[in-house]
Amino acid sequence: MNTIIVGAGMSGLTAAILLAKKGEPVTVLEKNSQAGKKILATGNGRCNIANRKILPEYYSGDKQIIDLVMSDYSLQNDIDFLFDLGIPTTDDGSDRLYPQSFSALSVRDLFYNAAVSEGVNFIFDTEVEDIQKDGEKYLINQKYTCDKLILACGGKAQADYAEGMFDILENFGISHTPLLPALTSLKTKDVPYIMKGVRAECSVCIFVDGKFIEKVSGEVQFNEKNVSGIPIMNISHIAAQSLNEAKKAHLIIDKLPFEETENIIRFCENMKRKYPDTPAKYLLSGYLNNKLFHDELRILGIKPDTPIKNIKSFEPLVKMIKNMKLDIHATGDFDNAQVMCGGIPCSEINKNLELKKLPNVFVLGEMLDVTGECGGYNLTFCRQTAFTMLKNQN
Ligand SMILES: Cc1cc2nc3c(=O)[nH]c(=O)nc-3n(C[C@H](O)[C@H](O)[C@H](O)COP(=O)(O)OP(=O)(O)OC[C@H]3O[C@@H](n4cnc5c(N)ncnc54)[C@H](O)[C@@H]3O)c2cc1C
Repeated sequence: MNTIIVGAGMSGLTAAILLAKKGEPVTVLEKNSQAGKKILATGNGRCNIANRKILPEYYSGDKQIIDLVMSDYSLQNDIDFLFDLGIPTTDDGSDRLYPQSFSALSVRDLFYNAAVSEGVNFIFDTEVEDIQKDGEKYLINQKYTCDKLILACGGKAQADYAEGMFDILENFGISHTPLLPALTSLKTKDVPYIMKGVRAECSVCIFVDGKFIEKVSGEVQFNEKNVSGIPIMNISHIAAQSLNEAKKAHLIIDKLPFEETENIIRFCENMKRKYPDTPAKYLLSGYLNNKLFHDELRILGIKPDTPIKNIKSFEPLVKMIKNMKLDIHATGDFDNAQVMCGGIPCSEINKNLELKKLPNVFVLGEMLDVTGECGGYNLTFCRQTAFTMLKNQN
């Protein structure tokens, strides 16, 4: 059975290696002039390739696909697979795993090297624009014939990508959920100018149409017209989907997440007793950058140099710092996103990731309606889709 794989990213390369190891003739068609271009950009060039803590809850999208692909994921098998390609892994002091080289280039090169060594044939600068069903076979671009076709075309994030393969699949009656940017920043007009460029450990709750959806925490970066940072990226798909459905999204940011409101109020009262002439702008600067409570002081009519002995109650100030509201009017676009949310849903595929309407055509990686959080979850999912396809083959 000869196989064509469309796309030489993490999922296509993994599938190519696994099939070639089984002795199947495999050709990869790739529109770029090289394999794994996106791998090169991962983890700021260091490639956060996996995570010690891989759990379904770190993925969003189609729950059935998440279960299908990730339920029997084995970290040890994954580490062994990578090691077998010549990629020993290590962590960065957290649960995130990287190649020992901390080089995304080495990951790309060694995946490609393994595929070539196993006999995979790569044809670059070839964009698949046409797929025809030809009896039991498939005819690609009127030129290449195969028995089995694997679509591993990735998503629209930071890719030179039109709707491409999703349009081709639509012609076969195969639907997909809306394709939206994820792992991206959130645009808002509500960040005070003075906070521009400040980073702080915060907790962030996202609400859709007033309803609480999720709480995340970590370092948030406040920018002039958006907020970014890992916790923001990890909830950006929620904002993207709700805005796409014309719903309203807002964030409540706690800029002092480590202390209860009462404790901070007590702290302020102590300061007032001990150092009554302290200017208001220094009141909480032992806790957080004073640019982060400058605007709250302004709204409460307290000048930065007002001695704290003149502040009657600290409660309104502390409550505002712990409940900063930002209305979200857009997400970052695909150029700013690390992944795409949305894609082919479970209703279109069998348990071996074969399209129900196109026998012997399989969909892998980011084309499926699954999005992982930051932390190596997306590359892991991509590899695991190739393993799932093979495991559930017969
Ligand atoms: C800046 C950035 C940093 C990231 N960092 C991390 C990280 O550290 N850890 C992590 O887990 N994830 C990370 N991700 C996400 C991760 O890179 C992707 O989820 C993953 O690479 C997707 O792999 P894929 O095989 O599905 O698709 P891709 O890697 O996008 O590969 C698809 C391939 O298909 C080709 N193609 C598309 N259409 C056609 C066509 N019609 N004909 C021929 N070829 C076609 C494309 O050119 C491409 O080479 C990051 C993403 C970005 C953008």
